[in-house]
Amino acid sequence: NVRVRFAPSPTGPLHIGGVRTALFNYLFAKKHNGTFVLRIEDTDQNRYIEGAEDYIVESLNWCGIPFDEGPNKNETFGPYRQSERKHLYKQYADKLIASGNAYYAFDTSEALDIERKNHEAKGKTFIYNWHNREKGRLVNSLVLSEKETQEKINAGEHYVIRFKSPQDETLHLKDIIRGDISIDTNVLDDKILFKSDGMPTYHLANIVDDHLMEITHVIRGEEWLPSLALHQLLYNAFGWEAPQFAHLPLILKPTGKGKLSKRDGDKLGFPVFPLAWTDPKTNDVSRGYKEDGYFPEAVINFLAFLGWNPGTEQELFNLEQLISDFDLTRVNKTGARFDPDKTKWFNHQYMQTQLSLNLTKDFKALHPELNEIDVNYIALVVDLIKERTTFVSDFWHLSHFFFVAPNSYDEKASKKALKEGTKAILQELINIITVTKEFTVQNLESKIKGWITDNEIGFGKVMMPLRLALVGALQGPDVFDIMFLIGKNETVKRIEDLIH
Ligand code: GLU
Repeated sequence: NVRVRFAPSPTGPLHIGGVRTALFNYLFAKKHNGTFVLRIEDTDQNRYIEGAEDYIVESLNWCGIPFDEGPNKNETFGPYRQSERKHLYKQYADKLIASGNAYYAFDTSEALDIERKNHEAKGKTFIYNWHNREKGRLVNSLVLSEKETQEKINAGEHYVIRFKSPQDETLHLKDIIRGDISIDTNVLDDKILFKSDGMPTYHLANIVDDHLMEITHVIRGEEWLPSLALHQLLYNAFGWEAPQFAHLPLILKPTGKGKLSKRDGDKLGFPVFPLAWTDPKTNDVSRGYKEDGYFPEAVINFLAFLGWNPGTEQELFNLEQLISDFDLTRVNKTGARFDPDKTKWFNHQYMQTQLSLNLTKDFKALHPELNEIDVNYIALVVDLIKERTTFVSDFWHLSHFFFVAPNSYDEKASKKALKEGTKAILQELINIITVTKEFTVQNLESKIKGWITDNEIGFGKVMMPLRLALVGALQGPDVFDIMFLIGKNETVKRIEDLIH
């Protein structure tokens, strides 16, 4: 029974790296009929940001990858916020102390600073581990007697509980994506698990919760790979079976150099957040994919390809196809370069698969003046132009003349299109259009083109001013399509407006 979790810390908006982690967890869960859990890792109260949890939930929902279990939803293994599980962790820290896998340390930060400086002076790095935990000036329960330790705790002295990393062992770790990894335990430091303020650190809370929530697979970013040894050791120390691990590759900047950061988006002109985010301290707004006009389906599609590929040429996937084709063993080890142009390409492609009628809703939301117009008419217009657009926000610029007559004419275009005999030619054209009974694209085209050829007028002399009259510029889709859609009366009226 597969159970995976997405375990963000609510320290700000989720960026696309986080959404990608959530997506891969979701895909893996759904593929195996498993459960996708959301756990909020908010043990670090100093970094807590108001609104971040809501943002995370809204982002997952907008992307179409909601969690099955989490805060306020199917709380079988709840609570799902670590701050509400605070009472749970101390007993586990105590267990580790009792079994000799952890110890109290009373060193002040000043004392540790001095240690660091002393080591540096000798060209060494200070690591709190087997090298020096029982030597020198460190004050912990390994060097104090049980009585002395208890006295310090009773006196309310500030302490931390550290993990006692084993000495002289080789640890064999497994990662679904990276294969086997061996680590010499002598390089590990004795990480802090618990603090006297009653709060666990990430490491302890994460392992305890993954165990209690019966997580079977931990799928997370590569930045957690260095913690894997400690996590495996914690499972061993508790005597628990560890879940399987998969560490996803980094997402790199568009240049391929360095990790994509939360700040890159605003700096380089593309979103890196699913939804726009207003910083509660500075009120600065960072753009989001949603507000920039991306379809969530396109976002999911490009995120899936950041570090994964199906091994075929196919690039366009909907969620169901991703679920069925996704495979953790096909995830790359090397970083995935983020390409903002490719995200646009996915959006453009997704748009083409959508019925124009369905796109009219978003179009109308951007241009309320369209509310008066028949949606079927708007859909026909969208049909003509969507191929040349990436976002619904591109529609208006390419189609306004279908809805409102030009109120001015482009200067350059006028110079090019309006010549000596134009007026007479357009007058004649009006006659032809007026008597055309069957007002269809085909009929209009054959009538007008036939007239041009028979009278050897020259196409440009007719088509350019005609387009100018209809559009106000020398752009837009096929003129016969435009005439047909706006209708006979409007066509004639616009030509008259140009020549009068
Ligand atoms: N709270 C950690 C984070 O913010 C979770 C890491 C993990 O998945 O173990 O990424």
